[in-house]
Amino acid sequence: MTIKELIMQLVYPRVCPVCGEVLPWSISGSVEQAKADPYICRDCLKKIKIVTGTRCLKCSKPIESEEEEYCHDCAGRTNYFEEGRALWLHDGYARKIIYALKFSGIRDNADFIGYEMARRLGPWLMERRADALLPVPLHRSKQRSRGFNQAQLIAASLAKWMGIMYGYRIPIDSGMLVRTVRTKPQKDLDPRYRFNNIRGAFEADDTAAGRRICLVDDIYTTGSTINEAARTLKRAGAEKVFFITANIGI
Ligand SMILES: [Zn+2]
Ligand SMILES: [Zn+2]
Repeated sequence: MTIKELIMQLVYPRVCPVCGEVLPWSISGSVEQAKADPYICRDCLKKIKIVTGTRCLKCSKPIESEEEEYCHDCAGRTNYFEEGRALWLHDGYARKIIYALKFSGIRDNADFIGYEMARRLGPWLMERRADALLPVPLHRSKQRSRGFNQAQLIAASLAKWMGIMYGYRIPIDSGMLVRTVRTKPQKDLDPRYRFNNIRGAFEADDTAAGRRICLVDDIYTTGSTINEAARTLKRAGAEKVFFITANIGI
C-alpha cells in the first residue's frame, strides 16, 4: 500500500456494501487490482443472487415454465427494445446495494455494479455491437433534488470497466434522450397503470438515428420505463435498442 492509499483508507474508508466491513483501498484501476482488492467481501459476493435458469428471451426475467419463451409482461405488449440483461435479482443484498446508492448516495456501489456488469455481461454487450450507453434519464427536477442520476453513475462505471477489461470503448451518450414529464414513481403504481403513467414521458433527438443503443438503469420491474424509452428512441430512428440493468424484479 502506498502512502496515498493509506491516507485514502483513513480519510475515506471503503466498506463492503453488504456487511459494512472496511476493505483495502486501491487507487489504480486495473482488473488485477479490482480482483485483488474487490469492492465486496468474497463471502458477501456469494450471497447476492445472480440471474440464472430459465429466462424470458426478451428481458431475461426468470420464468417458471420451461415451455414459455417470454415472461408475462413481455408476452402481453409490443416490445420496442430488442432484448436486455440484468445482473442480479432485486432481492436481499442486491436490493440493499441499489437502495444504498439511490437513497443514501453511496456512490462506491455504482462502481461495484459497473464492475460486476462488465465482468458478467460484458461479452453479451459486445456481441450486441452497441455503440452507445444511454443512462435512463431522470426528470430535471428529480435529478436536482437527488443530486445525481444513479443510472448515469452505473453507466460511467460500466463504460470504464468495458475499456479496462476488454478494450471496448463505448461512449455514454446521455444527450439523446430527455425526460420531459415528471411522472409518478412507477413502483407506487399497479402494473396496469405503469404504461399509461410513463407514456410520452421522454423525448429523443435526431442523434439517436441509426444508433445501436444500450439503455442503462438500476432496476427493471415490468419494463414499462425501458420500453417507453425504447419506443421513443426507435421513433427518432435508432437502429437497435438494448438494455442492461443492475437488478430485475421478480
Ligand atoms: Zn461483506
Ligand atoms: Zn420478459
